[in-house]
Amino acid sequence: MRESRDRVRSALVNSHFEFPQRRITVNLAPADLPKEGGRYDLAIAIGILAASGQVPCESLESYEFIGELALTGALREVAGSLPAAIACATAGRKLVLPRESGSEAALAGGEVKVADSLLQVCAELHSREPLPQAQRPEREEARGCADLADVRGQLKARRALEVAAAGGHNLLFYGPPGTGKTMLASRLPGILPPLATDELIEVAAVYSSAGLAQLRQRPFRAPHHSASSTALVGGGSNPKPGEISLAHRGVLFLDEMPEFPRHALEILREPLENGEVRISRARAQVTYPANFQLVAAMNPCPCGYLGEPRCRCTPDQIDRYRNKLSGPLLDRIDMQVEVASMSAGQLQDTPVGESSAQVRARVAAARQRQLARQEKINAQLQGSELDRHCALGKNEQTLLRHSVEQLGLSARSYHRVLKVARTLADLAGEEQIGAGQIAEALAYRNLDRRQLAETI
Ligand SMILES: [Zn+2]
Repeated sequence: MRESRDRVRSALVNSHFEFPQRRITVNLAPADLPKEGGRYDLAIAIGILAASGQVPCESLESYEFIGELALTGALREVAGSLPAAIACATAGRKLVLPRESGSEAALAGGEVKVADSLLQVCAELHSREPLPQAQRPEREEARGCADLADVRGQLKARRALEVAAAGGHNLLFYGPPGTGKTMLASRLPGILPPLATDELIEVAAVYSSAGLAQLRQRPFRAPHHSASSTALVGGGSNPKPGEISLAHRGVLFLDEMPEFPRHALEILREPLENGEVRISRARAQVTYPANFQLVAAMNPCPCGYLGEPRCRCTPDQIDRYRNKLSGPLLDRIDMQVEVASMSAGQLQDTPVGESSAQVRARVAAARQRQLARQEKINAQLQGSELDRHCALGKNEQTLLRHSVEQLGLSARSYHRVLKVARTLADLAGEEQIGAGQIAEALAYRNLDRRQLAETI
């Protein structure tokens, strides 16, 4: 903050205001919140001008100010204007900020005014020349997201992707390298419905506080397994949202999931459960939204080619590799789906698959059904909502109970299977969950613990 003093002084002098020849104390409260960067410059400058009678004090009552000052008195863009604008709109206060930060802040919907310089802000406060309102950014068309039509074959995996999209389910692909696991995962945002306005604002607020360029479509984040846990979940001495929050309302793709540090994977359990992440710092606790859809990929063994002659992995190595994913984490992944390798011949014989637009239409219809019935997507159903919206007939109940016992699935997986079956019924346009849908949902739990050894 020390540099702020020099910037404010120069900006005032260069804008031909008088800099008071007295000792000036600027109190930034509350003291326990970290303050950094130049975003307080404008407020400090206006405070000095008001205290020294150079702008009318009473005009400040309804305003908030954010902006960094250049030595010339020009205003410079600041990061994180949207969360501030949302707070201002909620409090019913006018916000004044640099022009470059305006379009982002305008998403909040409150009264947001933009200025290029300290002098313009003062002209507004003197009621000499009102500042212009910030303009909302134009909504862009979803940009060329990779299309599902490019993925040849892999009908099972494509079906799983559609089901995951329709119900918002977490998904794990396993299979050897080169089978298109990454290709498939990266096409998930393209079959999801576009961001609703309130979702767009939430995503924009996260990117704003991370100081990143704004998105107009569902995020797709694919951090490398060497990323630090801070980069993954957020934090740092000046806390910033991590990858899981940058994936909020979108897709978090973890390729080669077992290669991520165990500790980092275990942290995912909380956000997977409640859609946010709490970061405890020495001085403050920060909560970031992290309501993402997880898509993970892994090889069947450390080398990836289990079952082929070139695989030299020992049973011990294979066990250790798979055990990096803990049972509780695997429980939270609704669907575990094999992506097998295809021979050149098989690929040749496969017709071109459906486009993302075709699949997206079915996903949208299934989601519409869910929202009309329960006002949320199936992945978010909890507790008594499950009883109400996923009620099973007698036969279906017996089938599910027996299968879960036989497969040794946990209580949590039981509920996950039920939710996936609900989504399958919604995709089929059916009110009641049928036995076929339960069987298909169970088939997506290939990796659960007791079965592990036999299935891959
Ligand atoms: Zn191997």
